[in-house]
Amino acid sequence: MSRNTRLLLSMLAIFALLLAACGDDDDDTETGTDTTEEESTDTTEEESTDTTEEDSTDTTEGDAAPVGGTLTVGTKYDQPLFGVNTPDGVVGFDAEIARYIGEQLGAEIEFQEAVSANREPFLQNGTVDMVVATYTINDERDEIVDFAGPYYVAGQDIMVVAGNPKGITGIEDLDSGDIATCTVEGSTSLDNLNELAPNANVTTFDAYSKCADAMGQGRVDAVTTDNVILLGLADESEGAYELVENPFTEEPYGIGVPEGSELRCQINEILQAMYDDGTWAQIYQDTVGAVATQVPDPPALNNEGC
Ligand code: GLU
Repeated sequence: MSRNTRLLLSMLAIFALLLAACGDDDDDTETGTDTTEEESTDTTEEESTDTTEEDSTDTTEGDAAPVGGTLTVGTKYDQPLFGVNTPDGVVGFDAEIARYIGEQLGAEIEFQEAVSANREPFLQNGTVDMVVATYTINDERDEIVDFAGPYYVAGQDIMVVAGNPKGITGIEDLDSGDIATCTVEGSTSLDNLNELAPNANVTTFDAYSKCADAMGQGRVDAVTTDNVILLGLADESEGAYELVENPFTEEPYGIGVPEGSELRCQINEILQAMYDDGTWAQIYQDTVGAVATQVPDPPALNNEGC
């Protein structure tokens, strides 16, 4: 092989590696194999409102809200009650909260599908301007992104097949090789499971809807994440799944923004106004309220530094 051919081959190999790296669309990262799901692989952008100029004003570090510009919002596309991509746009509590914030900031909202594991990277690399996606505020995340809120507090729970054939009543029951438990990469649900049930037999995907599918196929016995996410999935299952209803963590949901962004305090002001004038409760009722009838009080905002 000539030197030139070798050089050409190594360049091609590098090119192929780069292509493979770019083409990784963050599909499932399960420990088992699964090629059937396609519902959350659609990562194309979805405009909630009609035509606007594509000028996506940059809101990185320290920037104020892009009045008259576009705010790209990372949200879930497959979580009933909080964020579902439908032919009419993204619907759910998170989507409505994001829309209202956009309206108040005078910015168009453009949704971008996010999964649990890419929320920090999306904020860090400018793919999105904010994340409204059942996103728990914790110290580790707070080191690299900022959070407005909290605007809701969930608790981690367990979903099982209706009738609970394995008799699972709490997190301690998952701490065994005999129970196959499913959750999602890059989530506090996985961190909590690893910490509280270190012997658990864990399967992970990139989205909870895939865990629900796996349970439907008899491949896992339990799905664990925030109760409100499970509530939506159980509701969608039309009686096939139920919640154990024994939450074992607190998950305060924040609106992620890039580290140092002025958006954080601006969003907090909007959230406070929504709490005060009943908009927050109305949105809750119109979305989560379809399943959870009791409207909770919104949590106190963390205005430190605002
Ligand atoms: N709230 C948890 C988290 O932010 C679990 C739900 C999710 O993955 O979106 O990690």
